[in-house]
Formats: sequence, structure tokens, C-alpha cells
Amino acid sequence: MCTVKLFMLIGDPVDGTLSPAMFNAAFKELGLNYVYVATTVPKRFLADAINGIRTIGIAGLNITIPHKIPIMRLLDGLDASALATGAVNTVENQRGKLVGFNTDGDGALKALEEKIGKIKGKRVLLLGAGGAARAIAFSIARAGANLTIANRTTARTRTLASEIERKLKVNVKPIQMNRTLLKKTLEKMDVLINATSVGMSQKGNQTLVTSEMMHPEMVVHDIVYKPLKTSLLREAQRAGAETVDGLGMLLQQAALAFKIWTNRQPPIKVMAAAAKNELRRRKK
Ligand code: NAP
Repeated sequence: MCTVKLFMLIGDPVDGTLSPAMFNAAFKELGLNYVYVATTVPKRFLADAINGIRTIGIAGLNITIPHKIPIMRLLDGLDASALATGAVNTVENQRGKLVGFNTDGDGALKALEEKIGKIKGKRVLLLGAGGAARAIAFSIARAGANLTIANRTTARTRTLASEIERKLKVNVKPIQMNRTLLKKTLEKMDVLINATSVGMSQKGNQTLVTSEMMHPEMVVHDIVYKPLKTSLLREAQRAGAETVDGLGMLLQQAALAFKIWTNRQPPIKVMAAAAKNELRRRKK
């Protein structure tokens, strides 16, 4: 009998995800008898779902909103990446033991560095203090960026900044999220990263920063990928700044998960082509 290994994305909602397209293309490329599916798991069923996953022997998971934090207490172990960021986006089934990882932060770092070179010494303003922002903040601070954070809920900004300072022994500046202060801060920044959900299509395609607050020497990275060209990136182009969309991070965090599950080099080009084909198919 030929055994199929099953991988899953769990979240609520999961429609619109590009992950099955990316992973199934990668499995096929390497001749692996693996299948990846996305399934909706409402919050109240998370614990049941995890028990089921353990019982059935699902080989690996990706986790998305709203489970990235609540899943932590249901797992058997946590890798340093998950412990540092306080959120899990990838789970590996290690002979019945479910171990959580976080590949979001290093995925974003890799996508950004591919465009702009090493982040070490760069002045970065990060917007957000949610799951994705936390992961990115830890990864770029660890890589030596000079980090400033602004979030709508100020208490979360302060908590995140002091957590990074304590764990990584680096300085992080928390600031308030108001237009005047953001504009003044951005004058001195090399990189702006939007890791809030502002700009997502279902939220009305808004932006927290407009062109007159930016300058042409900066790089603007929006991790939102639905739509790929967000209002923020349009404003950045208007200001003459370089832009990085959310597809790079999506691809790199998936590639890191692929490596955890298979111990093989991910076929990045195949995964990128699959994601782009899927986006094109949906536009038709
Ligand atoms: P989350 O944990 O729910 O965090 C949401 C963040 O957005 C919080 O910082 C929140 O601020 C802020 N926010 C929401 N509405 C806002 C508003 N109207 N004004 C100002 N700030 C607002 O979500 P997440 O998991 O971090 O995801 C955030 C975004 O990143 C989503 O769009 C997601 O699709 C995207 N993402 C992309 C990738 C990728 O691979 N490209 C990976 C992960 C996530 P408060 O703290 O004040 O609520």
C-alpha cells in the first residue's frame, strides 16, 4: 500500500488561501506522495481538531487567524521561534508529538533582504503589534535592525518593545500611532513595514500612511497580500519609494515550513509560479 502524508492549513476563514496551490506544486515537483488541504476550524473546535490531528497522524500543519496564539497551549512542544514570538504558524508532527514553530518573522526578513540587502543597521518603522508584527519585530531586531514600533493600541506597542528589549538585549522605540508623529519619524527611516491588517480588501483598502509622509529613499513593505497592490504601496510609488508586496513573505514563510516538514530544499520558483497562477485564475 502506498502511504500518503497529509498536511493541513487550519484557520477561520481559510478561503482565499494560496497555501494548497504552493505546497501541492512543491510536493509534485519533488515527487513526494504528500497532499495539502485547507480546512475551516472555528475557535470553539480548536482543541477537538488538535486531538483529531494527533489521532489521525496528520504530518504537519499551518495555522492562521485566529488560532496562532491559542494553539500554543494545545501542543506538545514549542521551538525557540514560537517561544520568542508568542505565536505559532507551523506545526510538525514528530512521531506523535506536535511541535510548534513560527516562520512568519524569518519569512518576512528573507523577503525584505532579497530586495534591499542586509537589514543590519537599517532604521525600520514597524506598524502593528499583532501576531505577524510580533514575529517580524523579533526577526528584524535579531538581525540588527534599528527598530521603532507603532500600534493602534499603545499598550501592545509598549509590551512588544519591552519584551524584545528584555529577550534580545537591544533597544526598541515604541511610539504613538498618530499622523504627525508617524510623519516626523518616517523622515529618518530607511524602511516602513505595515504588519497591520489595514489595507486588506475586506477592510476597504485603506492606508495608515500616505505619500506626503514618505520620502523617495525609503523602502515600503506591506505584508498584506489581499490585494497585492495595496493603497499603502500605491502611496509609496507616488512618493517615489521602492515597494515590496506581501507575496514574498507568504512564499518565504511557506518555504521555511516546507523545509521543517521535509528536510529538503523548497522549490521556491515552483511555489512562486503556483501562487501567481492561482491569483491569476481567481481574477478571471
Ligand atoms: P492580528 O494578530 O489580528 O493583528 C492585527 C494588527 O492590525 C494589530 O496590530 C491591530 O492593532 C492592527 N489593526 C487592525 N485594524 C486596525 C486599524 N483600523 N487601524 C490601525 N491598526 C489596526 O493579525 P496578523 O495575524 O498579525 O495579520 C495582520 C495582517 O498581516 C493580515 O492582513 C494578514 O493577512 C497579513 N499577513 C500576511 C502574511 C504574509 O505572508 N504576507 C503572513 C501573516 C499575516 P490593535 O493591536 O490596536 O488591534
